[in-house]
Amino acid sequence: MTEFDPARCAFVASAAMAGAAAAAAPAFAQSGQSGGSNAPMTRQAADFPKPPYPKQEQPWPGLAQKMDPRPDHGEETYQGTGRLTGKRALITGGDSGIGRAAAIAFAKEGADVAICYLPEEEPDAEEVKQVVEKAGRKFAAFPGDLRDKEYTTALPGRAVEALGGLDILVNNAAYQKWVPGLEDLSDEQFDQTMKTNLYAMFWLTKAALPHLNSGAAIINTSSEVAASAPEILIDYSMTKAAILLFTKTMAKQLGSRGIRVNAVTPGPIWTPLQVTGGQKPENIPNFGSSTPVGRAGQPVELAPLYVALADPAFSYSTGQVFGATGGDAQPGV
Ligand code: NAD
Ligand code: MG
Repeated sequence: MTEFDPARCAFVASAAMAGAAAAAAPAFAQSGQSGGSNAPMTRQAADFPKPPYPKQEQPWPGLAQKMDPRPDHGEETYQGTGRLTGKRALITGGDSGIGRAAAIAFAKEGADVAICYLPEEEPDAEEVKQVVEKAGRKFAAFPGDLRDKEYTTALPGRAVEALGGLDILVNNAAYQKWVPGLEDLSDEQFDQTMKTNLYAMFWLTKAALPHLNSGAAIINTSSEVAASAPEILIDYSMTKAAILLFTKTMAKQLGSRGIRVNAVTPGPIWTPLQVTGGQKPENIPNFGSSTPVGRAGQPVELAPLYVALADPAFSYSTGQVFGATGGDAQPGV
């Protein structure tokens, strides 16, 4: 039987790659600035909130600004070094969580940023707009539902129109809802998970390809559950495994065109996804506590990884899977 730790719930699998950490390190380590905040990178790993966290629930899709403690997306703590100067990025689910951390870091690294999100998430998106514009970069917001093919396939063209081109696509939005057993998994939920996590990635990537040139990067957010799926996340885990295979096949197709495609497998990260039904509410207080690091990760802690994968200097890494799991093993694919 698969080991299952209810305190961590979704996170029983697998390890951050040393190569990814090394590649990402400069974003934290250097002190240079790029068109953005002069705030120093003050936060050390030891300063991040530790369990127990306050018990909390929000209706889906939730807002980062209503979480306690508020997630750190790098608003004050991420420091840019100009690694993405002049690039143009489109990030799904860029309003909150990991997508917001990528949006903020990209802007502080010198990129213009377009994000999409659900209309209910406008208050979170407004905060991202403020940080991106404070960094001196262009910002475009495209609220809508990624399950809508027409809306989704139009997004890359709208991003090109708003930003003048497209160099980076981050397929990051997802739906995660825990269910006790297969009998509780409705067709509606199965459909929502597949449409959001897989169809949208397929539609978006296909529509983005005509706009992407050599040096462009596609980054897909998977999960460590792709390796060891918790019994309460059947549909979600299926999609996260499929994202890894999509990443690898696309890397093969696009290698000769100079377009890199990589995946990130986060561990337990403090985001709205988890407090809106992604996780059993009783597991929230000890979320991430059984990782070797002993706490949930904050979105900003993944930002250097997304920056590294977007950076054309990372030119020989494609079709790879990079973990940010707090020390657990990552999917062995
Ligand atoms: P999040 O809730 O902040 O982000 C998910 C986003 O998906 C939402 O903000 C929303 O804008 C978007 N979204 C969902 N359904 C949508 C729809 N129908 N149309 C448009 N947008 C929609 O949570 P997060 O944890 O930052 O999630 C980002 C990614 O990280 C997801 O792919 C998730 O699977 C992955 N991930 C998260 C964790 C974790 O512990 N938080 C662990 C592993 C992987
Ligand atoms: Mg959100």
